[in-house]
Amino acid sequence: MKDYLVRGLVNKRNARVFAVNTTNLTNKAREELGLWPCASAALGRTMAVTLMMGAMNKDQEKLTVNINGGGEMGTVLATTHCDGKIKGFVANPEVHYEYNSTKKLAVGMCVGNNGTLQVIRDMGLKQPMTSEVQLQTGEIGDDFAYYFYVSEQVPSVVSVGVLVDTDNSVLSAGGFIIQLLPEATDEDITFIENKMKGFPPVSDLIHQGKTPEEILEMIFGDEVEILAHQDVFYECDCSREKMAEALAALPDTELEAIINEDHGADLKCQFCHKSYHFSEDDLKQIQENKHQ
Ligand SMILES: [Zn+2]
Repeated sequence: MKDYLVRGLVNKRNARVFAVNTTNLTNKAREELGLWPCASAALGRTMAVTLMMGAMNKDQEKLTVNINGGGEMGTVLATTHCDGKIKGFVANPEVHYEYNSTKKLAVGMCVGNNGTLQVIRDMGLKQPMTSEVQLQTGEIGDDFAYYFYVSEQVPSVVSVGVLVDTDNSVLSAGGFIIQLLPEATDEDITFIENKMKGFPPVSDLIHQGKTPEEILEMIFGDEVEILAHQDVFYECDCSREKMAEALAALPDTELEAIINEDHGADLKCQFCHKSYHFSEDDLKQIQENKHQ
């Protein structure tokens, strides 16, 4: 099944809904970034929510989520131009803990809960807008629910999950978000709360072959109206030109040091690990162009 996202409305329950299957793109991120299972889970959950947030607001051009909970995993970051393409990275992907009682991946322990979840929105204005909340558990889903409630005043259910196989490949990944509209009544809230009690983990449902639409139908039946579909991919937009721009942005003394001492530079993209080599001559050219 290919990865895609749906956006919909449940008029009868005064809610808007999003659901996404990100199995293939999470596996691609795992391969490109060398993610261990906890890192696949942390980044996979983060990317699933980031993609759904990209579908929430048509005005934003670029959306970045930056999570740092002070745990061994360090920064977990995902970024999208809200076009269905996403990329991300994990500062230290080689950490692993399991909860003793359940043998489940201890994502919250690896991420940590002593830090922040930051959402950076670029609306094409001079300054991007940043909003931030304290992490609650580091399990990602809970932290986003808290973010929507505190930062955007939108009560939300956020369910995201990644199922990892014994060979560390990703069996399934994705999630759904339910957001209450301002007209929502106590009855709507109770309905959704009751539906969520004992609701199966979303990664299990995806693994069973349930589509994003079918998962929403399990909650709302035929009351859900799907408004849009979008294919989603893991894709890095790095290029030699962008790397050259990054070099040109270095202070003169630093660029000179690279030329005179290193006689060249190898830059590695942090999102896809692709390498770009710049010879001494290339660097001199960059330096020259900078001062034209
Ligand atoms: Zn790249």
